Amino acid sequence: MQTIGVLGGGQLARMLALAGAPLGMRFLVVDSVADACAAQVAPLVRADWRDFDALADFAQRVDVATFDFENVPAETAQWLAQRTQVFPNPHALAISQDRLAEKTLFQRVGLETPAFAAIDSREDLLRAVGEIGLPAILKTRRLGYDGKGQFRLKSVADVDAAWQALGGAPSILEAFVPFERELSVVAVRARDGQFRTWPLTQNWHADGILAASLAPAPDSAALASLAFAHARRIAEELDYVGTFALELFVREGRLLGNEMAPRVHNSGHWTIEGAPTSQFENHLRAVCGLPLGDTTALGVSVMLNWIGELPSALPVLAEPRAHWHDYGKSPRAGRKVGHATLRADDGAEMAQRLARVARALGRELQAAPVLAALQASA
Ligand code: AMP
Repeated sequence: MQTIGVLGGGQLARMLALAGAPLGMRFLVVDSVADACAAQVAPLVRADWRDFDALADFAQRVDVATFDFENVPAETAQWLAQRTQVFPNPHALAISQDRLAEKTLFQRVGLETPAFAAIDSREDLLRAVGEIGLPAILKTRRLGYDGKGQFRLKSVADVDAAWQALGGAPSILEAFVPFERELSVVAVRARDGQFRTWPLTQNWHADGILAASLAPAPDSAALASLAFAHARRIAEELDYVGTFALELFVREGRLLGNEMAPRVHNSGHWTIEGAPTSQFENHLRAVCGLPLGDTTALGVSVMLNWIGELPSALPVLAEPRAHWHDYGKSPRAGRKVGHATLRADDGAEMAQRLARVARALGRELQAAPVLAALQASA
């Protein structure tokens, strides 16, 4: 029996522990807050990322350590890697923590990106606005997620406000991409190099936060093999072990790399019920050196994210082939507190189910783009 240590005690750690229990795995979670929601299902070590006494004890008690949170300081990951096995490796974590290093890697493996420039001063920003054009997005190189640490520039008059909003932190300026759609590859690589992907997922965001996912992404066969090849090259380049997500924009039929998440990802939550092996189970299999499980899709899945507060569970519980996930968190604006996954044999059945559930939940707006995509591909 193995004990898996998880750095970060949010919903991803919680779902990892729930996926590992049938395999006989034990978990130990590190978080600085006492009410970390993973602590409801696994023992918690309460420590911050610089508490090396607590982390030394943690390293002794686990067989392998992994992440629920990608912004664990790279130095902490390196320090831990000298004391226990850490997957993904600290170098892979460091690259995906830095938007500049990440986009540079994408280009090196042949994945096109939005035009971007490194910004270290107000003068850099002014120059880059001239080169890249507007609209554009200024993003901090580090510590950004769910649209945090970002400022959208519409005119040159926004330069000062953008620079101040990000507090003068090292950043990148990116061209704003009027994309047709957003896709993600959720993939897993084992210790022996075995590589698998779940089908491409189509995603919709609201205020920079994932609102809904549909898998398999409709009409994506032509893009899938290319997207999977990019994901594989990135994973091999980083000697990556575990599950990760590669977020892509589709613009005029071409793929552009936005970012990668070095962990299980919200756009892969549908795999819990929508695939024979979930992203969580395969992540655990990968980091423990076990064979990977089947990643094909069982029909069509839609995931709806609950942000800020949960709607009533009853319409989901009353629906066949619908699954409710409450992360056990208290409500707060912008916070991911749960999700629901709906399953169906095909797009037509899904459209009916989704319309019915969304109406009962009062979530028609959230479901509307997913319904439109299902109807367009019917
Ligand atoms: P990120 O944190 O970089 O994933 O950004 C969150 C969301 O903001 C993305 O999923 C997109 O919906 C949007 N976004 C980010 N970068 C761009 C861009 N360069 N052009 C258009 N939309 C973007």
